[in-house]
Amino acid sequence: MRRGVHAEAAALTLLGVAPRLAVVVATADEGAGWYVRSLSGAARRVGVECEVVDLGPDAAPELIGATLARLSSDDTVHGIILQTPLPDGARVEELAASIVPEKDVDGANPLSAGRLAAGLAAYPPATAAAVLELLDHHGVELAGRSAVVVGRSLVVGKPTAQLLLQRDATVGICHRHTKDLAEHTRTADVLVVAVGRIGLIRAEHVADGAVVVDVGTNTAPDGSLVGDVDAVDVARRPGALTPVPGGVGPVTTALLLAHTVRSARAHV
Ligand code: NAP
Repeated sequence: MRRGVHAEAAALTLLGVAPRLAVVVATADEGAGWYVRSLSGAARRVGVECEVVDLGPDAAPELIGATLARLSSDDTVHGIILQTPLPDGARVEELAASIVPEKDVDGANPLSAGRLAAGLAAYPPATAAAVLELLDHHGVELAGRSAVVVGRSLVVGKPTAQLLLQRDATVGICHRHTKDLAEHTRTADVLVVAVGRIGLIRAEHVADGAVVVDVGTNTAPDGSLVGDVDAVDVARRPGALTPVPGGVGPVTTALLLAHTVRSARAHV
């Protein structure tokens, strides 16, 4: 995917449209800082310009909204991301409405979410798209199969469930109030876990032969990055499991850049 994005970014640049991604940041959160640096590096490596607009952790919602609107009308910007977390009182669902859908490469604008739910063209959130990309790449059949998504956030759980439904899977969604999680997750041919809790999913939650996609990214007590799935325990079951790190994360980054290049192509 990176090679494809790199080639297309180079071709567009030769045509005078250098693909450019803007990331609006209003936090001092360490994890967010790490993510933005890693995204900037990945962009640079594939020839996509990445502009980080740091408004500081005390930025007022009005300033964030005005910045997103300014970038939306800037012809040299092709993709816009609003990094979370945001300062108190600022809500991503409200502010992301200021990102025009054509540049909403992480599907954060509620309009993009609505279009996705209606089956209309829109950029899906990159993480949800990455889950489907991984499943497709590995030839996992979805039509008619049982898929269970654990987590129902607007950025990951819900859009992933929508995309699986569009592909004719029979989809269940679990969350904090689900009684007997294992009873539901054991019915899944494809299990997607996006919660943010170390070791939530163990062998007893997984059916033999199931394909498990671990979206979770958590910092373990020893400082390492781990998912929501207890990979050692789940390995007792025959099936497949995406690793953390090195699974959904890098595909998400590659897709954000692919979306940016696709948006730039519309400017040629
Ligand atoms: P979030 O907004 O905090 O949502 C977490 C979801 O998990 C909520 O829907 C919550 O249910 C549910 N949940 C919490 N405890 C649960 C439990 N014990 N059993 C079942 N469900 C439970 O988080 P998010 O933004 O969706 O992110 C989820 C994870 O994915 C995090 O670890 C995040 O770091 C990671 N992530 C990874 C990528 C990537 O590219 N790899 C991108 C984005 C996020 P309620 O709705 O009932 O509260």
